[in-house]
Amino acid sequence: MEKILEAIQAGASGAELSSIPLPDSYRAAYVRREDMGMFEGVASADKDPRKSLHIGNVARPEIGPDEAVVAVMASSINFNTVWTSIFEPLPTFGFLDRLGKESELGRRHALDYHVVGSDASGVVLRVGSAVRNWKPGDRVTVHCNHVDDQDPSAHNDSMHASNQRIWGFETNFGGLADLTIVKANQLMPKPSHLTWEESAVNALCNSTSYRMLVGENGARMKQGDTVLIWGATGGIGGYATQYVLNGGGIPVGVVSSPEKAALLNELGVEAVIDRKAEGYKFWKDDVTQDEGEWRRFGKKIRSLAGDDPDIVFEHVGRQTMGASIFACRRGGTVVTCAATAGYMVEFDNRHFWMKLKRLIGSHFANYSEAWQANRLIDMGRIQPLLSAVYPLEQVGDASLKIHRNEHEGKIGILCLAPTEGLGIDNPEKRELIGEDKITIFRRHGG
Ligand code: NAP
Repeated sequence: MEKILEAIQAGASGAELSSIPLPDSYRAAYVRREDMGMFEGVASADKDPRKSLHIGNVARPEIGPDEAVVAVMASSINFNTVWTSIFEPLPTFGFLDRLGKESELGRRHALDYHVVGSDASGVVLRVGSAVRNWKPGDRVTVHCNHVDDQDPSAHNDSMHASNQRIWGFETNFGGLADLTIVKANQLMPKPSHLTWEESAVNALCNSTSYRMLVGENGARMKQGDTVLIWGATGGIGGYATQYVLNGGGIPVGVVSSPEKAALLNELGVEAVIDRKAEGYKFWKDDVTQDEGEWRRFGKKIRSLAGDDPDIVFEHVGRQTMGASIFACRRGGTVVTCAATAGYMVEFDNRHFWMKLKRLIGSHFANYSEAWQANRLIDMGRIQPLLSAVYPLEQVGDASLKIHRNEHEGKIGILCLAPTEGLGIDNPEKRELIGEDKITIFRRHGG
């Protein structure tokens, strides 16, 4: 890998990179099948990713005809790596075993270790015989939608494909490693003005937020819409906030500290709710919600934005869904992609049907949506949320920080990149977009 890194840093051509032999094994972050039961009886909040995430060498698999080998310069931690590392809601080995039964190539994935990670920036080293649009030497980012295009169900919207998977979560050979194996249709051009780590943190969260808010598959946000955003400085929330501002909407951002509120103000969000300071208790106990608290929350939104939200950007789940459905305006839309705080959600159906609201389930993004979201990053219209950077060896610490909600935006991970700040191909473009704008989360993250 050292030779490959040296060549990348020296700006080697694709032909030169192709001539360097690939190592038989590579450094990666992985969980082990034998550890699946290690947290039995431990409360979810106390499960420690540092105990289950290992760093070590794993065997490099052969690539398939429609795949590419990418040298990973940087990656990022997503919440799915937290889920994998605490084996919740299910151990991910079941996903790998199912993929293993699908085809000869699928069999490579069903191993006793799972290399995790669903984001990457890097350089293409090899492509399979069926790859047309990419070649060794291309500088890329990777989105995580892994689809089998031989399946008819994949050809309207690939997120509807019956065997759609998230790379590095439901497949093996993920991005938290020095090498990764991906489908060629996961590749996108690396934004030329960003560093490796700034380029690596966007694809998963940025594309998810794009699909949830923009375009026909999501809430179809339009100019002037008021959008309530939970976790407005978190991974998906931080991109959602920017999409609302970018698209002429009015964001109402919910956060949990004065520091996060200040970050939202700096981004240009005027309507900010500090949920901790307000002390909302939407649940009286484990089974009873408090409509009075929903009303207090709704009033607060109205006092800040002048109206009820047209759209609610949901991902918290059980803790907030009742309040989200209640607060959403008559005829408005709640769009959800997750359930960080409980997936068995409950809401008062009367507020839902009598006021003709809509609830949309959303999941990642198809290639076209991911490409559009990447293009907006490349144009400098949407900024990376990089707030902190860790080396690959400290993937467990970085995951714990996210598990404990002690971060803002996204945590980047240096894989092959030896230091921060490398990989900028177009410094003039960076200057035009503005260092201050690009690094706003990094300055806050410290
Ligand atoms: P994140 O960076 O941890 O951000 C989540 C935010 O939610 C936190 O910053 C926190 O903000 C807020 N939050 C957490 N617990 C809360 C609670 N009990 N009540 C209100 N707010 C709460 O995570 P992320 O990357 O944005 O991901 C969020 C969720 O979406 C995760 O469950 C993840 O797995 C999921 N996700 C799904 C997809 C998909 O394709 N389906 C894609 C990306 C992410 P404050 O503390 O500041 O309020």
